[in-house]
Amino acid sequence: MKIGALLGDVFRSLFKPPATERYPVEKKPAPMRLRGKLVYDSSKCTGCQLCAKDCPCDAIEIITIDRAAKRFIMRYRVDRCTFCAQCVESCRFGCLDLSNEEWELASVQKDPFTLTFGSEADLEAFLAKTTGAQPEAETKP
Ligand code: SF4
Ligand code: SF4
Repeated sequence: MKIGALLGDVFRSLFKPPATERYPVEKKPAPMRLRGKLVYDSSKCTGCQLCAKDCPCDAIEIITIDRAAKRFIMRYRVDRCTFCAQCVESCRFGCLDLSNEEWELASVQKDPFTLTFGSEADLEAFLAKTTGAQPEAETKP
């Protein structure tokens, strides 16, 4: 490139806004169809296990608290998930979705990558049944 053309580019760029975004200082809304973290509505779940069976990454476990009362919780391994949305497609009851709001999932700790979803009462029942170190619980109605 000739020096004249180079200087022209330099001067033009001085008066243009930056092409880069100021993330994470300024955050823009994510696209509607972005596939972020899985969200689970336990109130609609029948415990059919299709989501867990169809997940190619073994990232989902459905734990039965009380089958007759349709009380289930889900253990979700974010670090295994490839956000393929197969589980969302497989669930016939609309319990699952991939959030376009929760997508900043990086962590230097392992704990945030195992999430347990369910109602507060079911999570308490589950924690009471189990012993030892517990995964981080995230309450969803
Ligand atoms: S999005 Fe894909 S990889 Fe992630 S839990 Fe669902 S089926 Fe498994
Ligand atoms: S496929 Fe849907 S209804 Fe069946 S266990 Fe999974 S979340 Fe529950």
